[in-house]
Amino acid sequence: MPTPRQQARITWLKGADFPCEPFPAPQSRPWRLVLLGAPGIGKGTQAELLARKFGACQLSTGDVFRVAKRAPEEEKTPAIREALEYMKAGKLVPDATVVALVEERKPCLRCTTGFLLDGFPRTVFQAVELERILRQEQLTLDAVLSYDLAEAKILDRVNGRRVCAKCKISYHLKDQPPQVEGVCDRCGGPLYQREDDRPEAVHVRMETYLHSTEPLIDHYQRQGLIVHIECGDTPQETFARTLTALRISG
Ligand code: AMP
Repeated sequence: MPTPRQQARITWLKGADFPCEPFPAPQSRPWRLVLLGAPGIGKGTQAELLARKFGACQLSTGDVFRVAKRAPEEEKTPAIREALEYMKAGKLVPDATVVALVEERKPCLRCTTGFLLDGFPRTVFQAVELERILRQEQLTLDAVLSYDLAEAKILDRVNGRRVCAKCKISYHLKDQPPQVEGVCDRCGGPLYQREDDRPEAVHVRMETYLHSTEPLIDHYQRQGLIVHIECGDTPQETFARTLTALRISG
């Protein structure tokens, strides 16, 4: 079980100048996985569940941009400001920016806990760059999990998703509502709808996924790394299927 500190992913969220302290306990079997799936499919939730099970950190590039967004204006580099504009519109941030950001966080890839890449790579270019970085570090991926769900169900999930502004936990207005409307059950923080979950941005994100990210499935299929997982009705059901697909007992 990772410590709360480990789950805070300081190095990943803030960069290599901010070491995780205390350093997370090494895992005897470090898992190195990539999670793929359309926006809103719930891969972030699966990454959190896998992180708890495997003691590895969830490395979400989207989370890095969201943390950067909350930083004081004067701390934002021009590349980050530009990235946030793309993000707001639901578009992909340019490959060079994302790859540079991951490269700066190489310690997280070589971490002895393993890693769960969530939202990266998102283009074949990024996948090839990831392979280059992993080769340099003499690391290999164990598997690429590809989550599948009908588009109508995905749109329903995204439209109803609300996130806690403080602890980042996700709710769904219909399927997993908080006990008090607009308030996080866990920490009492306010719930909000992510800017890129608004209908106009969601449409762009879906299109982008089909054109830029789906080709990644073929890319990884050719490497024999793809593991397909049909999403269930609940995160727990999908998680059970994930463990079965990885041949791990719950
Ligand atoms: P996510 O939380 O993974 O859905 O990411 C939120 C937003 O951050 C995306 O819609 C993109 O604008 C940006 N983003 C995150 N990861 C990447 C990536 N690997 N490549 C390009 N843009 C990304």
